[in-house]
Amino acid sequence: MESNSKKHRSWAEPYKMKMVELIRMTDPAYREEAIKAAGYNTFLLKSEDVYIDLLTDSGTSAMSDVQWAGMMMGDEAYAGSRNFYHLEAVIQKYYGYKHVVPTHQGRGAENIVSKIMIKPGDIIPGNMYFTTTRLHQELAGGIFKDVIIDEAHDSLNLFPFKGNIDMNKLQKLVDTYGASKIPYVSVATSVNMAGGQPISIANLKELRAFTLKYGIKVIHDMTRVAENAWFIKMREKGYENKSVAEIVLEICNLTDGATMSAKKDALVNIGGFLALNDDELYEEASNMVVVYEGLHTYGGLAGRDMEAMAIGIVESVSDDHIRARIGQVEYLGHKLQDAGVPIVLPIGGHGIFVDAKRFLPHVPQTAFPAQALAAEIYLDSGVRSMERGIVSAGRNSETGDHNFPELELVRLTIPRRVYTQAHMDVVAESLAEVYANRENIRGLKMVFEPKYLRFFQAKFEKI
Ligand SMILES: *Cc1c(COP(=O)(O)O)cnc(C)c1O
Repeated sequence: MESNSKKHRSWAEPYKMKMVELIRMTDPAYREEAIKAAGYNTFLLKSEDVYIDLLTDSGTSAMSDVQWAGMMMGDEAYAGSRNFYHLEAVIQKYYGYKHVVPTHQGRGAENIVSKIMIKPGDIIPGNMYFTTTRLHQELAGGIFKDVIIDEAHDSLNLFPFKGNIDMNKLQKLVDTYGASKIPYVSVATSVNMAGGQPISIANLKELRAFTLKYGIKVIHDMTRVAENAWFIKMREKGYENKSVAEIVLEICNLTDGATMSAKKDALVNIGGFLALNDDELYEEASNMVVVYEGLHTYGGLAGRDMEAMAIGIVESVSDDHIRARIGQVEYLGHKLQDAGVPIVLPIGGHGIFVDAKRFLPHVPQTAFPAQALAAEIYLDSGVRSMERGIVSAGRNSETGDHNFPELELVRLTIPRRVYTQAHMDVVAESLAEVYANRENIRGLKMVFEPKYLRFFQAKFEKI
């Protein structure tokens, strides 16, 4: 196979197109009206007003013909659908977890695992927070503590595994609160909020030894595990000749359970699951899912959704797939670097994270620089991105003040198998243009603030 050859070849896709979706191109005057009406929040734009949609890689993948064929094989029985058993077998084979509870998407699994494992006052260490993950931990009475290495908060640091856990920070939490207050460590692969940065196998092994010693479990946010595995293959000694599938299994085997948003890695438009090795925890989860999602053999999904997910999981751990997926992200990243646009390095797995602090040094964080920059990019080209900075970080649950994150980023998230190299060229051209005119960009003021996950629905006005 060409993929094992040492010859230089482009990252070109291991698929071809047989259907296309037409998208609309708009003019600047139209976009000015649209973004104003959306309160300068790209989440509130109508998708039909967007040319290239890099809002998220969540649920935006293109499914394969095999997945679409699988949709036609949906067994829409209320209980015991054959698609559930197929999904369960695929998860056991490729991820190695023993029990599977399907959920409508990732946060459904987060809700259940938080409710069954966290007691009020418990401490939940994690390698940087994710919005929905942390909120469910807090709603269950837990207190999130960030234990990611300091390098992760520095957008210029080139450390290859910026998703790693700082074992000293974890030890301190155990010393301060006691291991019995820590039900589990919440460990994400391809840490989203750090810019899609990977965790190493060596670090996961250290974490496994540490948690076994203290009787603490490890719950894996495996939303982008295959992308993390690719970086391990590229960067970690001893893994260059292992397949992505082998590395994915090794990662999962170092943890006790997982929450999955199958809308990312697993190449489906909707779906997720909770996986657990412990029999008793599974009993509780399979009871709890009935309350919030649906019976434990469908969890809020149609049979056809579970079938597409089962097939997507197998496609997602193929080396050829991941090489092209990350190759495209890197292609865009290198174009932006060539244009002098400040981005988070190393380039992550699922998108490019533009450093709004360095892009707009004249805009204070309280004027929401990343939010303003995302609006400006849309105005320039109809490209939709999203804020990952102070708006996403929300407010401190005790003091009510803004959380002030180190990283103030605009995320250009690349959907899987959707856009072409020429689309990436347009994105880079637009960012270069906005960067050249950056001095004209002023900040925003927030005029509407929702209580939960405010970044989704907050509204702004230009200062
Ligand atoms: C998307 C995501 C989630 C939540 O999953 P949903 O399917 O959106 O509910 C959790 N963790 C990470 C890292 C994610 O990217």
